[in-house]
Amino acid sequence: MRHLDIDWAVLRDRAVAAAAHAYAPYSGLRVGAAALCADGSVVVGCNVENASYGLAMCAECTMAGQLRLSGGERFVAVACRSGSGELLMPCGRCRQILYELGGPDCLVDTPRGALPLADVLPDAFGPEHLP
Ligand SMILES: [Zn+2]
Repeated sequence: MRHLDIDWAVLRDRAVAAAAHAYAPYSGLRVGAAALCADGSVVVGCNVENASYGLAMCAECTMAGQLRLSGGERFVAVACRSGSGELLMPCGRCRQILYELGGPDCLVDTPRGALPLADVLPDAFGPEHLP
């Protein structure tokens, strides 16, 4: 993979902008995610809630669809923000989704700085465990 410069300020801004498109009538928590992809592009996602609460999709979930639709290959670096710019960590389910499409070296913007998914989701189950 070619070297990619990660502009965290851009990713954070794109995540906040994506949160403006969230559908969050139940929680009121608008969430946006943005990722630098291996091809150098940036994809974004926003949360989409549902009257059947358990069917809500996190911003990282809709961003995963955008990765596939855009042909961006893999996630390299991910930032998640609320609509007001607060740093939000991906939930456990989303860490697994990011691991699937970014692998252990994908960087995540955390309160402790940029950390690889291997640190954010230690001892992960992943594609390498399936035959
Ligand atoms: Zn989530």
